[in-house]
Amino acid sequence: MYVDFDKLRAEVPIMDVANLLGLILTEYQPEKGPKQFRGRCPIHDGRHPRQFVITPDKGLYFCHSDECNSGGGIVQLYARVKRYEGTDGLKKAADEIATHFKVGGHSRNASKAPEVKRFDPEAYLAKLDPTHEALAPLGLSEDTLRLYRAGYVKDGVLRGRLAVGFCDQEGKLESFVGLALDQAPPSLPKGFDPEATFFNAHNVNYPVLTVYRSPVALMRDHPEGTNEAIAVIGRINLTMLENIIALMRERGCEEIEVF
Ligand SMILES: [Zn+2]
Repeated sequence: MYVDFDKLRAEVPIMDVANLLGLILTEYQPEKGPKQFRGRCPIHDGRHPRQFVITPDKGLYFCHSDECNSGGGIVQLYARVKRYEGTDGLKKAADEIATHFKVGGHSRNASKAPEVKRFDPEAYLAKLDPTHEALAPLGLSEDTLRLYRAGYVKDGVLRGRLAVGFCDQEGKLESFVGLALDQAPPSLPKGFDPEATFFNAHNVNYPVLTVYRSPVALMRDHPEGTNEAIAVIGRINLTMLENIIALMRERGCEEIEVF
């Protein structure tokens, strides 16, 4: 298939390609210039949480590491992440992007592509039971559980657990972590990055950020919601801390308290 790179660039937003590639990025508004999304570089497999930058308005990405120190548009991004080499690699990348987003066809809406069965978080939420008796020992009211988009899971992979919803930066529900009601470790969805994904982070905008070690503790202390707190899943390591600091900068938090 012949693919016109310019047409592709014009029709497919770079963040749609980033999402297709499963990149985990955080929105960042510089003091000057257009909005960015930053994260770890998927190309050189970087550990730095903000080295890799996408500027949606320009349709460009750039990795500021010594390993990459390079960037490009959607075709380059796709090819590099997929490890497609050379000119043939770029053509293959352009082909796959055009096919996926149906550029030149009737629809370029990825969610309508029949071969892609996406997880529907709202449908999943609707099946959770916030009134289940197994949750009683947690001391959380039904209203609180509903507010935080949490509930008991009756079947499926997380059966018998408390599922708690995680949202993107805009507050759109994205995924669920299954917290065990005993001492078992949490069950994380595929692609979930506990070092960069924080419970209730989309609501934070208070000068002092409180970090809880579990979503249940956060919900217990803030039964009616909060703009002051996040909860982390797992141990706080250096990468997680860097991501918390990035969140604090974005959200105007100046101090931190860890529970
Ligand atoms: Zn890189």
